[in-house]
Amino acid sequence: MRITFVGSSHGVPEPNRKCACTMIEVKGNIYFIDMGCQVIEELITRGKPIESVKAVFVTHMHGDHTNGLISFFDLCNWYFRAADPLIMLPEEKGLTAMFGWIEANGTALRGIRTGVINEGSTYDDGTLKVTAVRTEHSEVSYSYIVEAEGKRVLFTGDLRGPDVDFPQLVKEMHMDLMICESAHFSPLKYIPVFEEAKAGRVIINHYSMTWMTDLIKLMSDMRPYDIRLATDGLEVEL
Ligand SMILES: [Zn+2]
Repeated sequence: MRITFVGSSHGVPEPNRKCACTMIEVKGNIYFIDMGCQVIEELITRGKPIESVKAVFVTHMHGDHTNGLISFFDLCNWYFRAADPLIMLPEEKGLTAMFGWIEANGTALRGIRTGVINEGSTYDDGTLKVTAVRTEHSEVSYSYIVEAEGKRVLFTGDLRGPDVDFPQLVKEMHMDLMICESAHFSPLKYIPVFEEAKAGRVIINHYSMTWMTDLIKLMSDMRPYDIRLATDGLEVEL
């Protein structure tokens, strides 16, 4: 499994950091967790066929996680007609809004597959499995556990706080990698969670520069725990 951080910024873009979007590649299939920035041009620039996109999973409906979605949906709808992505949103009203936008621009909907996330096992195409864990960041928000090729990765999505809604499964299940946000609280709050988690590798994503001093302290204090910062374009092979 290869994970590429297309957008690693928090609620607002930073210089050279777009809003939240992570691409996962497994055996030529492409999946996205969140789409806070435009991805069609990213795929074209990287030479990836749009038809390789099998599914999109959105953690919650805030714009920094969804603002690229209408562009993706629109281009798949009228131009990349061989593409067959499944778009999974946490709330039905997000789908209604997306369909309404396409209708407003005068394009007929061609029946792209969509669905609403439910807590628990939410997707399994035989190549990639996704399990959703409810969080308390917004009215309906999720963390995702992604499994493929014998590896398991946690995407926290946005949290209310590590001491409130960090998925407790990490205490029982080994995670090859945990991808954790750091926009809404000091990353030092992760220390007790990381100490208990069955994982040794963390990438901090969706971080605010406000917390840079605390991020450096976290990385230093938790050695030899492998904690790194995501940047746009960072690729990780598992
Ligand atoms: Zn966010």
